[in-house]
Amino acid sequence: MLNKKIKEILIGTNNVGKLKEISDLLPNSVKIFSTKDFKLKSPKENGKSFRQNSEIKAKHFSKKTKKICLADDSGLEIDLINGQPGIFSARWGGKNNNFNKAISRVFRELYRKDKKWMEKKIRARFICALTIYWPSGKIINSEGKVEGFISNKKKGKNGFGYDPIFIPLKSRLTFGQMNPKKKYKVDHRFNAYKKIKKFF
Ligand code: IMP
Repeated sequence: MLNKKIKEILIGTNNVGKLKEISDLLPNSVKIFSTKDFKLKSPKENGKSFRQNSEIKAKHFSKKTKKICLADDSGLEIDLINGQPGIFSARWGGKNNNFNKAISRVFRELYRKDKKWMEKKIRARFICALTIYWPSGKIINSEGKVEGFISNKKKGKNGFGYDPIFIPLKSRLTFGQMNPKKKYKVDHRFNAYKKIKKFF
C-alpha cells in the first residue's frame, strides 16, 4: 500500500537542539509545529529503552494535539561504563539540562572505572530512536547509531549535549568542532531518519 506523504507534523521535543536538528532533516515542504506552539510539557520518560521512550513522547504529544507527531529518544552509550549514560543521557545534566554537568559526570565515572582512561581509546556510540505516531494510532519506529570515541577534553562550540566529547570513527574532530551540516550527514538521527524518509 502506498503511504500518504506527511504534509505537517509536530516535533515532539522540548529540547531546542533536537528541534533544530530534526527540523533540518525534514523536507522544506513539510509544515513544522513545535511543542512550544501548544505550550506542552514533556511526559515522564519511564520506558526501558530508547524505542519505548520515543514512543511515549510521540504518543503523548500526538494525543494532546491531534497531530501526527515525530519524537526522538537518543543518548550516548560508553562501553567502559557499561553503556552509561544511555537512556539517562539527558538526566545526567540535571533539572536544567546542563550539558557541562553531564560531561563532568562522564569524566568522573570514567576516572572511577579506570584512572588511566585518558590514555586509552574509549569506545562509545550515539543512538537515536525515532517514532512517528498518527492520531489514528498508527505507529512507525526506526533506530540509528553512530560509532566513535570519547575525547578526554571538551572541544568545539557547535551542537549540543555531549557533542564536544564525541569523536565519530574516521574523524579527528568532535561533533562540537564539526560544521553542523557535516554532523547531520553522519549522525545517529540522520541514520534513523533515512529509514522513515519515505513518509515525508
Ligand atoms: P532525551 O532523548 O530527550 O532523553 O535526551 C537525549 C540526551 O542525549 C540529550 O539531552 C543529549 O544530552 C544527548 N544527545 C542526544 N543526541 C545528541 C546529539 O546529537 N549530540 C549530543 N548529545 C546528544
